[in-house]
Parts: sequence; C-alpha cells; structure tokens
Amino acid sequence: MTVKTVPAAASNMTLGEIAARAANARQAAASWRRYSLSERVELLRAVWQELTSRKKELCAVVHAETGKPLAEVEMMELATAHLIVRYFTSNAHRILQDQPAWRPWPLLNKRAYVRYVPRGVVGLITPWNLPFLIPFGDALAAMLAGNAVLVKPSEWTSRTAQWVEDAIRACGLLPEGLFSVVVGDGQAGAQVVAESDMVLFTGSFATGRAVAQSAAAQLKPCVLELGGKHPMIVFKDAELSRAAKAAVWGSFANCGQLCVGVERVYVESEVHDRFVELVRREMSGLRQGLGGQDVDLGRLIFPPQLARIKEQLEDAAAKGGRVIGGEVLDEANLMMSPALVLGASHDMKVMTEETFGPVMPIMKVDRGEEAIRLSNGGSYGLSASLWTADTARAERLCASVEAGMVCVNDLLTHYAVCSLPFGGIKHSGLGRRHSDEGLRMFCWPQSVFIHEWPARAPEPWWFPYDRAKTRLVSWIMKLT
Ligand code: NDP
Repeated sequence: MTVKTVPAAASNMTLGEIAARAANARQAAASWRRYSLSERVELLRAVWQELTSRKKELCAVVHAETGKPLAEVEMMELATAHLIVRYFTSNAHRILQDQPAWRPWPLLNKRAYVRYVPRGVVGLITPWNLPFLIPFGDALAAMLAGNAVLVKPSEWTSRTAQWVEDAIRACGLLPEGLFSVVVGDGQAGAQVVAESDMVLFTGSFATGRAVAQSAAAQLKPCVLELGGKHPMIVFKDAELSRAAKAAVWGSFANCGQLCVGVERVYVESEVHDRFVELVRREMSGLRQGLGGQDVDLGRLIFPPQLARIKEQLEDAAAKGGRVIGGEVLDEANLMMSPALVLGASHDMKVMTEETFGPVMPIMKVDRGEEAIRLSNGGSYGLSASLWTADTARAERLCASVEAGMVCVNDLLTHYAVCSLPFGGIKHSGLGRRHSDEGLRMFCWPQSVFIHEWPARAPEPWWFPYDRAKTRLVSWIMKLT
C-alpha cells in the first residue's frame, strides 16, 4: 500500500485574521523604522544565526512539505539564503545611505541628495517551489530596508514560512509582527495586496498579471518575478561533457521546478547525437526517492503539475517526439521519472510553454544563432545559457538574447550572486530582486534640496520679473 506523504493544502485564515496580522505588521514597521541601519544589520544577522542553529529542523520542515532531497534544501535554499544575508548586510550601508545629487554650478550654494525611506508594509506573495529561500530571502532585504513584511506563501507550502515566523518570534530580537505570515489561497493573496504598501509577487504569469492589475488599481508599486522557458544553446565547439552534466542538473534540479531551470535544449547538428548520448548516460545515474538522503530527485510539489506535465509529454509524442522516461512512478506521491524528449520542435508545447517539471526536450538546429532567434520568438524572457569554447563570441551573442539573465557555460548559480539583478523581461516579469536596485526598491526615494547660503538674498528668478533678470539668467545658462 502506498503511504501518501504529500501534505494537504493549508486552510484559509479569515479576512479578520489577515487584517489583524496586517495591523500588527504596520505597528511593527512604525517601530522598526526608528532603528538605525547598523542596528537592523546587527539584529538581522543575529536572527540568521538563530535560524541556522536550528538548520536540521528547518531542513526537515522543507523536506516534509516538498519531498526534495535534503542536500538540495541545504545547498539550494539555505546556502543561497546565507549568501543573500551576507551580501545585503555587508552592502546595506553603501546602497541605502543618502546619495548626494549632482547640481549645476549656479546652484552650488545648495545641497541636494536622495534619501531612501522605507515603504512600510511589503507584501510578499510567493510560490511553492522554494518555500524557504524565496520568502526569507526577499523578507530579509525588505526588513533590512526598514519595512515589515506580510508573507503569503503558497497554500501548499505554508508550514515552512510559519516555522520561520515562529523561530523569529522565539528569538525575541525583532519587533513583534515584523515578519507576519498570512496563510491561505489566492483570496488571501488578494487581501495581502490590499493591506500592503508595495507588493513583490513571485509566481506564474497569469496570477502575476492579476496581481499587477489589482496593485495598479490601488496605485501601489508592484514587482513581478514570473515564469521562464530557459533555452540552453549548445554550439558544436562546446565542452560537451560539462554541457551534458549541466543540462541534466539544470533540467532536473528541484525536480525541474525552478523558474530559471533549463526548459529546452537546442544543439548544433554536428554534436547532437554525442550530446544526447552523454545526457542519457548522466540520467541513468540519477537516484530518485522520497527519503531525502542519498537521492538526487524527489517528487513534484503541486498536485496539478503531474497532469500538466503528462499532457505536454503526450502532445510531444503525438507530434513525433520520442519520449524517454517520464513515467508516473507513484501518483499519490506525485513521483514521475525524469523525461527526455528527442526530436523536439516548436510545434510542441514542451518547447514553447513553461513545463516546470523534470522534462528535457532536445531540438537539433543547424546553427546556434537559429536557436537564439527561435527562443526569442517566445513570450518568456527570464534566463538563457550559451555553451561554447568561444566565450568572446558568446558574450557578443548575449546581446541578442531576449532574457533578463544570460549565462555562458554556466546556469542557475547566478541566483547566489546577489550583486547581479535577478529578473526577467516580457512575460517573465517587471523589476528586479537582488542587486542595489533590488534593495532600494523596498524604499521610496525622497529628494532633499537645501539652500545653504546666502541666508538672506532672494533668488534672481523669483518675483518681481524684469528684463535685466531675464538677461542675467540667460547669460548664466549659456555658461552652464
Ligand atoms: P501561482 O501564480 O499559481 O501562485 C503564486 C502565489 O500567488 C501563491 O502564493 C498563490 O497562492 C498566490 N495567488 C494565487 N492567486 C492569487 C491572487 N488572485 N492574488 C494574489 N495572490 C494569488 O504560481 P505557483 O505557486 O504555481 O508557482 C509556479 C510559478 O512561479 C512558475 O511559473 C514559476 O516559473 C514561477 N516562479 C518564478 C520565480 C522567479 O523568481 N521569476 C521563482 C520561482 C517560481 P496559492 O498557491 O495558495 O493559490
């Protein structure tokens, strides 16, 4: 008998409960903004230390909720969160300090600068694929910038966020309610938009668009981190063994449920067969299971995904693709084996729609440039990678790839390089997390302009107007 390990979706908080959490967060934000940046840095570092001292417990919660290998929880979620904490706490002063503004010389008797003011309550609406990294990483940056956060995780992975909330409360270091979790479905998410001063949404294009519409109607800033269709383009001079290993990891890490994961592979015809052979050899060594230890792949996280992926594989097979693997191993536990689709083409959904599962379609192309053109034709533009020994040529080609993030002979790991903006174009989103921009977005810029001297004299362009003043100002402008 199969023992079902997939937890049920969490039940909704009532609208009253959500409003009470939002009120708590607002109160916490008012007190938190009075802390100096140095105090915030110190306290958030201490919170991170407390969380990592309970690492085993945290890994167990994420594993129970997602079925992913413990090694993956540790390397992908915790290690990356560590780098986010390190980067932002070390760079916050540089990024958030007042920025002096340039002035034209006739105004050098004045001071001008930009001050970054916390927005208040930031709503973080997050998906189920990285239930610790996404909510915590984004919350860390938002709190560092002086805000409280109202986190709405997916109803399928709420326990991890709740664990973090409890652990933060137990430390007693931050104002009560600064990190507040709202549990529920899309309706709860909609209320989070209504209660927040800014929204950072991570999820699908369809929901992201609805969230953006609602935020626009309320005139609230909204940053969107949406889906992707990572094209991996392998040129004939690529180091094929590294490229094949990367394709397998990039397609099947997190059981294929990564927004920047490889979703389609284009290979130049001269090396196509050798590449496929290397990929198959690599795949044959993958270990799959739900135990968490000594496995490479776990299960799908979101129940409807199984049917969606099956449908894409059937579509590919019906259109002449050769599907290898992709069997449903344990329906109750959402386990499917990784799938390879050979002979893939652009009339198949698996090459054009987001799959978000352990599927690697491979398409043969005459030239890598053709693959760039084909992939640019799609609606997503999140990440892409080029694989070639000629890195100078690849760097030139990067400019023609329509994606927010392009790697050469590498993939996925750029998430951990927090100095790089992370985000997409087209249907993959608006705005960026990480980087200077991704921390400053949690503040509104206030322009400050101060007249310093002479204290008494009026400006020549004030009333009353006369011809001499006009001539003087135009003469000054000519010299500027
Ligand atoms: P969804 O868009 O279905 O859901 C995302 C979040 O929005 C969930 O918390 C969901 O709640 C909530 N939600 C649903 N409806 C509404 C609404 N009307 N108003 C406000 N919130 C709402 O995405 P998934 O959870 O299925 O995540 C998978 C998607 O996320 C993929 O497309 C993937 O590419 C993308 N993603 C993008 C990343 C990026 O950084 N660009 C990173 C990771 C994933 P509930 O789940 O409870 O219904």
